[in-house]
Amino acid sequence: METAVQEKIPVGISECLLGEPVRFDGGHKRNRFLTDVMSQYFEYRPVCPEVLIGLGIPRKPIRLVATDNGTRVRGVENEALDVTEALAAEADKALARMPDICGYIFMQNSPSCGAFRMKRYRENGYPQDNDGVGAYAERLMALHPLLPVEEAGRLTDAGLRDNFITRVFAYQDWKQSVAFEPTPARLVDFYSRYKYQVMAHHVPGYQALGRLVAKAGATNIDTLCQTFLETFMEALSHHATRKGNTNTMMHLRGYLSDLLSGSENEELSEVIESYRQGEVPLVVPLTLLKHYLRKVDNPYLQRQTFWAPHPEKLGLRNANVS
Ligand code: SF4
Repeated sequence: METAVQEKIPVGISECLLGEPVRFDGGHKRNRFLTDVMSQYFEYRPVCPEVLIGLGIPRKPIRLVATDNGTRVRGVENEALDVTEALAAEADKALARMPDICGYIFMQNSPSCGAFRMKRYRENGYPQDNDGVGAYAERLMALHPLLPVEEAGRLTDAGLRDNFITRVFAYQDWKQSVAFEPTPARLVDFYSRYKYQVMAHHVPGYQALGRLVAKAGATNIDTLCQTFLETFMEALSHHATRKGNTNTMMHLRGYLSDLLSGSENEELSEVIESYRQGEVPLVVPLTLLKHYLRKVDNPYLQRQTFWAPHPEKLGLRNANVS
């Protein structure tokens, strides 16, 4: 029940996160989790948009300025320097160079790469708010709204890390299993593997996807797959909460209950309840469920991605998150 996708997944990344000295001050922002751990699974496609537009290393700092013409990226010392359009254009070029990426990891607090809650200034230099987005990141996310994206700084949060990596693996799986040549059979097979994982993330999304898959074979497959993918990625963007995981495990337990002894059923219920109460991490009930699953000859159940949406070696389900 290890994740089915074994080859490295192409992922875009802010180049400074890999330890490359491309920052405005000639430094870098190497992220050890990304370079030492995730590099076993991700094939990084590094981009430094500020270098690519010719600002050089080192360079004078730039920042986001809220103006009547929208948010601009301007020089801190030289306000006549405005690189808003140049940075946005690099996003177009980056996606053209690497159409195969299945995720993007941005450096936080960058007027180019910051993806969330970036500080904006007024034209008089005073702080305005934290509602900005880096010009390169904003354009890239607008061009590819289904692409899983995250900031490196936020990946220290166990829940955000689990969710982002889950989405990257799922998107890669979609590309390999369905998108290369969509057919009704491929779509049905894909969803039959993800059903319980989606249930853990978002029950309304699970129900909507079930209705969509029921139309396979009776409507245009390309249109159906596009709607499916949008609904699927949106559903996965919701975190698989303790409540959602418990609900899903109770459904899965239903397949096993007739095959287990009274004491085994009792033990399983107790362990799932301990997880629901926040006493143990997800890996504990999952390990027991998977132990019993081995006793059952049920390929449908065994193929569920819920068991391992990402490599178990990452230990992402060992954290006691809610
Ligand atoms: S945050 Fe982006 S623009 Fe800034 S140094 Fe890193 S890769 Fe380059």
